[in-house]
Amino acid sequence: MSRTPYIAANWKMHKSVAEAGEFVDALLPQIAATQSDVVICPPFTALTAVVERRYGTAVKVAAQNMHEEDSGAFTGEVSAPMLVELDVEAVVLGHSERRQYFNESDEALARKVPAALAAGLEPILCVGESEEARDGGQTEAVLERQLQADLADVEDSKLSEVVIAYEPIWAIGTGRTATPEQAQEVCAFIRDFLRERGAAADDVRILYGGSVKPSNAAELMGQADIDGALVGGASLDPADFAAIVKAAG
Ligand code: PEP
Repeated sequence: MSRTPYIAANWKMHKSVAEAGEFVDALLPQIAATQSDVVICPPFTALTAVVERRYGTAVKVAAQNMHEEDSGAFTGEVSAPMLVELDVEAVVLGHSERRQYFNESDEALARKVPAALAAGLEPILCVGESEEARDGGQTEAVLERQLQADLADVEDSKLSEVVIAYEPIWAIGTGRTATPEQAQEVCAFIRDFLRERGAAADDVRILYGGSVKPSNAAELMGQADIDGALVGGASLDPADFAAIVKAAG
């Protein structure tokens, strides 16, 4: 089974336009030989700077959020067609920081995922359990609830166009990484869930995210059901991010 590895850099609220340009200029020569999908997720303000530099390369650009409506009275929001107009190809949806700090709900995600697909954006849907849920043996129940709700209105035939990022909250930005076995177990559970939902589950890219760095990337991405990584902190440095891309093979 061959799924193209998918490595995404989530910059969160980091990098000015100038810094984003410097990053891409430094990164591109280091990953020129990669066969993987490499995706950069800058803040909205730096999307165009990255888009313009990546033309002619394998790098794709993703936003970190979007509104589910195409337009309307939603002050401060950005829609899928607005991102497509910038030549953005993908969008991160449901990141735990958005769920935690900005009240991103599963109801909103149930509308955002189909809206992204309808506009031609590849959704990168983030799911993951809290430390409390893991300690209470609730990991699979939490994941199942999120996947069921967030993908409820996606047709079965479109499910394989969604990239799923498994991001245990306790491992994001904490330096604590899920063991390869823990991450594999959950990613396999996600693939089984998608198969039961009617997806071409063997085609779905499932990523692990949570303190991925050059030293642990190869082992994590070497697991059977882990097809890549969503990288936060270590994606801010072009050499570290390039090393993670190379670790995907
Ligand atoms: C993330 O922001 O999605 C993430 C996984 O962050 P970090 O790699 O810093 O844990």
